[in-house]
Amino acid sequence: MLVITDLDGTLLDHETYSWAEASEAKEMLASRHIPLVMCSSKTVSEIQTFRAALEINYPFIVENGGAVYLPPKSDQDADWNCIALGKNRAEILAVLSDARRSGFSFKSFQDMSVKDVMEATGLDQDSARQAMQREFTEPLLWLDGDDRLPAFSKYIKSRGLTMVSGGRFIHVSAGCDKGNALYCLKKYYEQEFGSLPTVIALGDSSNDVSMLEAADRAVVVKSAVQDYPQVNHKQVIYTEKTGPAGWNAAIKQILFEER
Ligand SMILES: [Mg+2]
Repeated sequence: MLVITDLDGTLLDHETYSWAEASEAKEMLASRHIPLVMCSSKTVSEIQTFRAALEINYPFIVENGGAVYLPPKSDQDADWNCIALGKNRAEILAVLSDARRSGFSFKSFQDMSVKDVMEATGLDQDSARQAMQREFTEPLLWLDGDDRLPAFSKYIKSRGLTMVSGGRFIHVSAGCDKGNALYCLKKYYEQEFGSLPTVIALGDSSNDVSMLEAADRAVVVKSAVQDYPQVNHKQVIYTEKTGPAGWNAAIKQILFEER
């Protein structure tokens, strides 16, 4: 078995970024040596901070599937392998700048100071700086009316980009999503273990749907700020509790059923 999880609003509390309420189930996974893979819109430096804090040393996926990080191939090699799935952020920023000239109104990380990002996210200064070190995706705050979003989506699509909503931001990327990243990860584990793992995916927002639908079992964690996203899957658990408390309950339920 393999567990792949979103962070914000799923394993981490939407407001406080605490995972305390998920500790029990997290320990149960650790004691069973079940890989716990983080798959988030966060950057590599942000995820490294959480991996250290949660004492997790498994592969991880950054920037909404922009890149998959896999362990070094040999003991002599210290560096993790970064498999880039998304295009370079500079190409995204060029399209966004054209979109703004075409009359769409938004504020992206590129336009924001560290203080702006701290205010929009509730992150402290160091964490906000880490969040701004982006390579594959650009989060933005939408300043036009919601009725203008479909036109914006169509515009960036015509330029090879896609957008998905997360808990706070709209994430713009080029040719990558969490579902694609999960396929890449499954291939790695198939080679590593000799067979495909059963994948349990957990998420709370639209940007998790491709990952949830690509998993064997999907857990939609109740969000503190929005409705459950629509997930097309035969085996979905919708948690009653929000964030890490919902995560904890769902993992315990699945481990009990899979005994
Ligand atoms: Mg989330």
